This record gives sequence, structure tokens and C-alpha cells, in this order.
Amino acid sequence: MLLQEQRQKVIDIACRAQSDKLIPLTMGNFSIRDKETGLICITPSGMEYSLLKPSDIVVVDLMGVTIDGNRKPSIETQLHCRTYAGRPDVFGICHTHSVFATAWACCNKEIPVIVAELAGMIGGPVRCAPYAPMGTIELADKVAKHIGSNNAILMENHGMLAVGEDIEKAYGNAVIVEEAAKITLYAMQIGGMKTIADQECKELRKQTIENYGQK
Ligand SMILES: [Zn+2]
Repeated sequence: MLLQEQRQKVIDIACRAQSDKLIPLTMGNFSIRDKETGLICITPSGMEYSLLKPSDIVVVDLMGVTIDGNRKPSIETQLHCRTYAGRPDVFGICHTHSVFATAWACCNKEIPVIVAELAGMIGGPVRCAPYAPMGTIELADKVAKHIGSNNAILMENHGMLAVGEDIEKAYGNAVIVEEAAKITLYAMQIGGMKTIADQECKELRKQTIENYGQK
């Protein structure tokens, strides 16, 4: 089977997102871009994640054309393809409808940096891409344009999208955004919330890139 290992990894992450409650039911979608072939392994449309087999994951090219698999790929396949097209550094994407991030997205408000990991891992405040209907090229283009060089973006009245140099990092970024969305909401309720200054955010990003994790 083409890219069997990567297909299994996509299933593992989708199941993890479900058990971590980052997505209700079968919402959201997950993909890996294979470094060697450039092909994308993406979750199928509307199938229960816990029942997926590697053969249910659809392999598409960068244009979204199915190369291998019998299932209909996610309706957001273009969202993934166009995000990959604009970001040669990205090899994993997680699109979730996690509750707190989506609440910010429904207000079209960017999540400010009050926790260091948002600057370090995401690259700054989590901006919000303007609304477009789900599953459209218009949505794909808006998200691909607005994410810039950051590792996550909110999608107005919809959800959030996180990217990474692999799918585990993309997943970690999706978790960080959800946690930041929650913490920021609580901090606003407490009152007197302080944001981290832009220059400090740049420092934190630099430090994270240079020093974080095992080398
Ligand atoms: Zn969605």
C-alpha cells in the first residue's frame, strides 16, 4: 500500500484529537505531506475515526487529485493542499473545531499572546481568517493567505487550523492554541490581563526555534 505508515499516523492523530476533545464527532480533518513524494495523506469525509484503516486514508497530490484510495477525501482537501502549497516547511496539518479556539473565531478576534508558548510555538498572536463557507476554494485561499509564516490560524465562525514540520508538531500546536484560547478567556474574566510585548514575542520565537526540545 502506498504510504501505509503515514496513513496510519494520520489515523492515530485523528483518534487522539477525538479523545482529547479537540473535535466533536467526525469533524475536523488531518493530513501528512510525505517528504519524499510530496503526496498528501488525508482523512476521508465523514467516517468515524476509531474505525479507520490505513486504506481509508486518501492519498492526493498537491492539486487535490486522488492518487490512491477508494474513499471520498475530506471536503477540506483544498484547505490542506493550498496551505501546503504556500508553506514548503509544513508536512502536517490539523484542522479542528475545538471549543475555546472556535469561540474566539466566532467573534473574529485574534488570541493575544499572554502565554509564552503562543509566541514560541505559534509565532505570535493567533490571527483569524475571514469567513468563507466550509469546503470551498475561497476558504482554502483565505486561510492559506492569512496564516503567513505562523503555525496556526483561526477560521471565522468555523474552527482553527494548525500546521507543523510534522503531524505531531501540528497536533501540539492545535493543543497549544486551544489551551491559550481557554487561559486568555479566564484571564479576561479575572481582569487586568497583560500581553507579552512584540519584541519579547520575537525573542521567545527565536529561543524556541534554537533551543526547544532534544537536538
Ligand atoms: Zn471544519
